[in-house]
Amino acid sequence: MKIPTTIITLSALFMASMVSAVMPDDPAKIDTCTAPGTVALTFDDGPGIYNDQLLAILAKKNVKATFFMIGENIVATPALSATLKKILAGGHQLASHTYTHSNLDLMTAEQMKSEISRTSDAMFTHAGVRPAYMRAPEGRCSELCTKVMGELGLVISHWNVDTNDWRHKAQAPQTAADLSMVEINDVIVKNSNPATDSFILLQHEIHKFSVELLAERVIDAILAKGYKFVTMEECVGKPSYLSGSVVPPVVPPTTGPTSGAPVPPPSGGVVPPPSATSGGAGAPGSTTRSAVSAAATTGTTSGAGALQMGAWAMGLAAAVGYTLF
Ligand SMILES: [Zn+2]
Repeated sequence: MKIPTTIITLSALFMASMVSAVMPDDPAKIDTCTAPGTVALTFDDGPGIYNDQLLAILAKKNVKATFFMIGENIVATPALSATLKKILAGGHQLASHTYTHSNLDLMTAEQMKSEISRTSDAMFTHAGVRPAYMRAPEGRCSELCTKVMGELGLVISHWNVDTNDWRHKAQAPQTAADLSMVEINDVIVKNSNPATDSFILLQHEIHKFSVELLAERVIDAILAKGYKFVTMEECVGKPSYLSGSVVPPVVPPTTGPTSGAPVPPPSGGVVPPPSATSGGAGAPGSTTRSAVSAAATTGTTSGAGALQMGAWAMGLAAAVGYTLF
């Protein structure tokens, strides 16, 4: 029996729509890294009470990660807000997950800007940085949100692999950890190639099992496959922080800060150039610059990129406390 071509065409359209439903349809939403063979490990919803444990695991594995934090959580508990400086000192990146963790697509532009600026202020107060990367709660960032984030010069950070730890948190801890490895095994371990693929991985630091039973397992599986872990800055190729940020020096794991390291002034000083605002230790400046060029040529974030380039130039002469919003 011959199948009518209209049915074949409709089937193809349906398949195409399924693919676009899985992948972000807006190129402004970043869900892969620029360089193959890299994986950005990202932890959402903190700062949480397991953060110290997580930092110890990351230090043991010598892996740098990115923390998308909720502004409300930063200001709610002084003990937890202190972890922000520890995160920076460990060479990790701080990023914004909005202030109230609400659906941005239900907000006006002004409300969205408030979500971003309040979180930025909280991070600046506790860690001296204003994040240039944001992640929308539940990934909800449609047309207006994309426009607003672009105006603010922010990288909308999506993901292409989900541990689904948030989905499995009610299970027994070991079961939850096993289930949270399923997508990683399917997508990365079994069906990817470090020569061509890169990933942004979604995990949460507020679930005990996710820190204690899952984080190290995730890291080991991905390292064994031949990938290198990077921060979002290295993944995307744009600086972690906006102008006005004063990034403290990364503390080497075994010895104290060396006299030769480029250390920003403690207060009232000049904002370091983009290469020194790295949230990820060891990101070579040349790699970052070429990645920025690559990102710019794609046109995906050129508006935001131009805004940020201008902001960096201004930042060279800006005093501490300069506020964009
Ligand atoms: Zn979240």
